[in-house]
Amino acid sequence: MIATFDVIDIRKDFPILNQTIHGKPLVYFDNAATTQKPLSVIEALSQYYMEFNANIHRGIHTLAEKATAEYEATRDKAKAFINAAQREEIVFTRGTTEGINLVAQTYGRQNLKAGDEVIISGMEHHSNIVPWQMICEEKGATLRVIPINEQGDLLLDEYEKLLSEKTKIVAVVYVSNSLGTINPVKEIITKAHQYGAKVLIDGAQASAHLDIDVQDLDADFYVFSSHKVYGPTGVGVLYGKRELLDAMPPYQGGGEMIREVSFGKTTYNDLPYKFEAGTPNIADTVAFKAALDYVTTIGKSVIGEYEHELLTYATESLQSIDGLQIIGQAKEKISVISYVLEGIHHQDIGIMLDNDGIAVRTGHHCTQPLMDRFCILGTSRASFAMYNTKEEIDRLVQGLHKIKKKLG
Ligand SMILES: *Cc1c(COP(=O)(O)O)cnc(C)c1O
Repeated sequence: MIATFDVIDIRKDFPILNQTIHGKPLVYFDNAATTQKPLSVIEALSQYYMEFNANIHRGIHTLAEKATAEYEATRDKAKAFINAAQREEIVFTRGTTEGINLVAQTYGRQNLKAGDEVIISGMEHHSNIVPWQMICEEKGATLRVIPINEQGDLLLDEYEKLLSEKTKIVAVVYVSNSLGTINPVKEIITKAHQYGAKVLIDGAQASAHLDIDVQDLDADFYVFSSHKVYGPTGVGVLYGKRELLDAMPPYQGGGEMIREVSFGKTTYNDLPYKFEAGTPNIADTVAFKAALDYVTTIGKSVIGEYEHELLTYATESLQSIDGLQIIGQAKEKISVISYVLEGIHHQDIGIMLDNDGIAVRTGHHCTQPLMDRFCILGTSRASFAMYNTKEEIDRLVQGLHKIKKKLG
């Protein structure tokens, strides 16, 4: 155990964990779907509504000024969280999905033409597949896919073969939500830039576990969701290099994103407001700052080290179960374990573990093409966060033994 990290203390910050499900203490292993929220986030949310709820940016009364300041404080915090160069490069969205759609529908629509190519990988979440399919279809561009090996690593040689002068956009996931694989995104970005292509990184899974530095990565776009970093649902961040965001057309039209409107012509607002049409999700954005503060105060290296301990322990324990196969054995992984149990449907595993108070995810995890790659319909997935413990992993292993006895 790491000296500066006490999981018992951490757990006290997450009130939801302290409950029983079907008479058993809750074990929450569905963190790759969404993380639980610390008290500081829940309190920030209610404080906003109790004390300074107001619409932002144009108000001159005190509440509006306070709400605006808090909303913009989250932007500064998010900028620091991923080490962006300027606050104007941080656009608030509803989440990762909206961030990717925004880039596809603005940058993609403006820059793709017939014959161009967009490269994604074989382990993308549906939200980093479908928006590119849509814009490729519209523009007559072609979607190419980097294959992956049996371990769950991207085949970088194949990636290099896909790259050409036709490549305009590369969109890859930093960390796979289904396999846990950490992709060498810096190398992927460098190679794409040699062909003049721009790169979007889907950071949905990476952002709670790894230190993120968009400048060091030289990412052109980086997207993530608050709710997977211990923050509220309904908020996300799109980072884009300023010169790219400046040149992009707006995504949605409406209030806030304009400078002047007449029936003849409308001029658009400055960054980042050009991309934030309408009243945004003020409350959740304000509370998102508390989540980012929570994570940075503990420190992602400390969190990562502890989660790695959990991953190693769980990998060893689960592998000791006869007939259990872990899907995704990349060398570089975060604390996600997908597995199949011979002869037992993943859905049955999910239901029976829930009876034991254990929450895991089952199914294709929004990565159907990846499941096809492994010739399976789905897996059962345990994904760990900083508040999980080895004792909880023991409960999972016991639960799986029980299921095997009953159904195996
Ligand atoms: C969760 C997830 C998404 C989608 O995020 P939303 O918050 O649902 O928009 C995209 N990519 C990956 C890798 C994810 O884990």
